[in-house]
Amino acid sequence: MSGILEETKFLMNQYHIRANKSLGQNFLISEEVIQKIVESSQITKQDLVIEIGPGLGTLTKQLLERAGKVVAIELDEKMIKILSDRFLHYKNFELLKQDVLKVDLESLIRKEKEKNQWKKVKIVANLPYYITTPIIMKLLEEELPLDSITVMIQKEVADRLVAIPGEKETGAITYRVYYYAQAQGILEVPKDCFIPSPEVTSKVIKLEIRKKPPIEIEEKEAMFRIIKCAFMQKRKTLLNALVNTNIFKDKQQGIKILEELGMAIEIRPERLSLEDYANISKCILKQL
Ligand code: SAM
Repeated sequence: MSGILEETKFLMNQYHIRANKSLGQNFLISEEVIQKIVESSQITKQDLVIEIGPGLGTLTKQLLERAGKVVAIELDEKMIKILSDRFLHYKNFELLKQDVLKVDLESLIRKEKEKNQWKKVKIVANLPYYITTPIIMKLLEEELPLDSITVMIQKEVADRLVAIPGEKETGAITYRVYYYAQAQGILEVPKDCFIPSPEVTSKVIKLEIRKKPPIEIEEKEAMFRIIKCAFMQKRKTLLNALVNTNIFKDKQQGIKILEELGMAIEIRPERLSLEDYANISKCILKQL
């Protein structure tokens, strides 16, 4: 750990940096964790890598050595200065000073692909935790031509994202991720691998984007709205949750649909598969 720790302290001193908590700045200081992130993202010179929140550039440096090109998106002016100084001489580095949530990634990737024959486009990042979910949802829902997303996030969120629907950690977001990607947990990362230490344990996860969704559904947004409503009220049965949120007109309609689909009346929302929700959605739309 010491080489990176020394380097991080040196950069923070030299540029008078104090980690900005409101920007989720927790800098990685573990060589081992950085190697694991880089290894599991399987980067080659044919890849375009987009890094979100490069910070002081610790991970960036490793990505630059392996990727065809790295486009790094950073919001903090102070980090931009450090990154520009550090990586000025790298021809395969581009830095965007922008809020990642506002970047038109689709056109960024399209333009990059027009200029170069990138084989794969990969996202690699130690994400700012205050916007983990919006970033991941943006990356998935915009249906970008990505190969994979390898990111460090809070363990609690990671466990929900990598669960298979029906498993213990299932939440509404599990179904969204499962629809778009095959997810796996890579490595749990303790708090002392960062300075300053975050308040929570972290985890590296990898989402491999599916070429084709695991189920066929025309009205997928309607299905996701049903899933969201099912999980709005904790500890309720699926039937009660969907009646209370007006997805089912009334209990009678709900019971009829569940029986038609061979589901128990008392079933809980987290026990259903993605296909089960697709079937409920189709039944409701049929009856409208
Ligand atoms: N990659 C560095 C590392 O691993 O040490 C820093 C990671 S730190 C957890 C998150 C980084 O995201 C910070 O550098 C922060 O300034 C940046 N950031 C925060 N909000 C952002 C946003 N909306 N758009 C782009 N970058 C953002």
